[in-house]
Amino acid sequence: MSVIKDIHARQIFDSRGNPTIEVDVYTSTNTLGRSSVPSGASVGKYEAKYLLDGEKAYLGRGVTKAINSINKIIKKALVGKNIFDQHNIDQIMIRLDGTKDKLNLGANAILGVSLAVARAAAQAIDLPLYRYLHHQNTMYYTTPIPMLNIINGGVHADNNIDFQEFLILPIKAKNFAHALKMGAEVFWTLKMLFKKKKYATNVGDEGGFAPNLTSFHIALDYILQAIEKAGYVPGKDIFLGIDAAASELYDVKKKRYILQSTSDKQYSSEEMIVFWNDIIQKYPIISLEDPLAEEDWEGWKKITKNLGHKIQLVGDDLFVTKEERLQEGISNQVANAILIKPNQVGTLSETKDTIDLAKKANYHYIFSHRSGETEDTTIADLAIAYQATQIKAGALTRSERLAKYNQILRIEEALGKKAVYYGEKIFS
Ligand code: PGA
Ligand code: ZN
Repeated sequence: MSVIKDIHARQIFDSRGNPTIEVDVYTSTNTLGRSSVPSGASVGKYEAKYLLDGEKAYLGRGVTKAINSINKIIKKALVGKNIFDQHNIDQIMIRLDGTKDKLNLGANAILGVSLAVARAAAQAIDLPLYRYLHHQNTMYYTTPIPMLNIINGGVHADNNIDFQEFLILPIKAKNFAHALKMGAEVFWTLKMLFKKKKYATNVGDEGGFAPNLTSFHIALDYILQAIEKAGYVPGKDIFLGIDAAASELYDVKKKRYILQSTSDKQYSSEEMIVFWNDIIQKYPIISLEDPLAEEDWEGWKKITKNLGHKIQLVGDDLFVTKEERLQEGISNQVANAILIKPNQVGTLSETKDTIDLAKKANYHYIFSHRSGETEDTTIADLAIAYQATQIKAGALTRSERLAKYNQILRIEEALGKKAVYYGEKIFS
């Protein structure tokens, strides 16, 4: 048996230059598991809470308190515990914290340890993480469809685009590597088109372009043009996705969505649904994430009824990777897919519980990065281990984004014929 021998947390920096945590877990059989913790900008109200210092240093964003949670409290409780008993380890941390949202020790502290434990366990039996966590009775593994970010807006960019992410999904690819080839060709072509029209080609937090376009229609038109010019057929080879991150646009008191780049500007929930319906008629959009706010359950019910049979409706801020919120969604026939961000819930075993529920209810589940990322590639292995239909890890720029996609390339290569790309199957 291998047990936890030592745990050590340190401060590192994420892709936005914010301090974050890296955790090393050492086992009695002399293996090391390391993981680091991402953070969001459009953080859902119901996410587990990070513990930040809130003092002058680092403009309040320091993580010394969360590091102390690990080095002084969690370590004591976990040394000597069986490294393979992930559930027990996660439960000990949850109990030790004692709050629903992991406020005491910090969800950042707990997640860092939870993922580092999984990595140390995989190392202890000399398996890659995706194989250690893959408990299916099949010799095949699936590779997810990449949802590649291509234009950034919302709180991820300083431009006028209301919606946060414009994505492309290379559905008709042979495998994951081919999907990335298609995505890269479209990305470069879009850059050329923007350059020609003298738009800025700097990138936003998740690596997509962030030009100052005056409306999201223009953004969608440019993406379509780029797909065609790169030699692909929109709506056949490559589909579009949008993450509206609509909680950021919602005025809870007025119950109105405020859109800067449209002439009407203020939309009721009903009007927003008409708006989306109109957009999906005009563009080959196959996936809409958070088209409505995390509070707007009535709107979500209606939009699912109206559009749920046509496209993928993804709950991100709505479900925050939590089993009980997803259960509420399933019971109310809300959405048909869930974004999976381990840091929204705070431990690996709770993440897995939510995935199991999504599977049972036939919801698609999509592993996702955060807008503030590190070089950690854990979500790539998790997407394969748990058979996620898709992965959303940003654009094909910025190494903290590519790190995840590159890891899947390695895994796909290692699996050879045992890897099956989800591709068209999931949307037929
Ligand atoms: P965030 O954005 O990491 O800034 O929350 C990602 C998303 O909304 O999907
Ligand atoms: Zn989102």
